[in-house]
Amino acid sequence: MNLGIRSPLRLSEMVTVMHKCILAIVAHPDDEVLGCGGTLARLADEGWPLVAAVLSAGATSRLPGREEERRQQAALKDALGQAACILGVKEVRQFDFPDNAFDSVPLLEIVRVVETLVQECCPSVVFTHHSGDLNVDHCVTARAVLTATRPQGRNPVRTVLSFEVPSSTEWSFGGVLPAFTPNVFFDVTATLERKLAAMEAYAQEGRPFPHPRSLEALRMLSGVRGSACGLQAAEAFMLVRHVVGAGVCLGNLLP
Ligand SMILES: [Zn+2]
Repeated sequence: MNLGIRSPLRLSEMVTVMHKCILAIVAHPDDEVLGCGGTLARLADEGWPLVAAVLSAGATSRLPGREEERRQQAALKDALGQAACILGVKEVRQFDFPDNAFDSVPLLEIVRVVETLVQECCPSVVFTHHSGDLNVDHCVTARAVLTATRPQGRNPVRTVLSFEVPSSTEWSFGGVLPAFTPNVFFDVTATLERKLAAMEAYAQEGRPFPHPRSLEALRMLSGVRGSACGLQAAEAFMLVRHVVGAGVCLGNLLP
């Protein structure tokens, strides 16, 4: 007699069934590398389809003239493509919300862009910014993602993870907004060098040590995050939401 009881899915099968795509939604070119570059490279190696959505062209808020702005935006776009290639991100989408002024745009406009992304890409996992970040664009992005992925109707998103962006997330010091207190760690020992190579593609965004986004400091941060959980190198995240749907064997969530 068939009682409708299925044998437990293996993790690889569960991935196929549950996860159509992983989507990283970030405010600026380079945030995808700084926040989750090592993890994206690892997931690409594991065969996951990845999409990076960048909501602005970046850099415009700190430039004196329109000509220089265009030149730097073109360089950033080029770097975005190079970094995606290095990490194994197959698809990149870029939008033109105003750099360092996302709060000048009605939140609903950004939410609608993210909702369309979710409808088109159908991700089950979304990586995005931490809501307590010092950078206003990062905060607004986090808020828009939370709204656009709210768990109702046919929304495919099962998991939302927020990341830290060195020289931005930690500089809020938890003074006015919630601090970043990671509780999910991805082992990036095997892909750290690719993350750093992807960051090198963003030559204009790099800074010398001891700046937090220097290559040396990024390597050190991965060591600190790794040491917090017994790994050589890790990227750290905060779990915003994770829904375990019907039909998923809990045991298969474990490695
Ligand atoms: Zn940023």
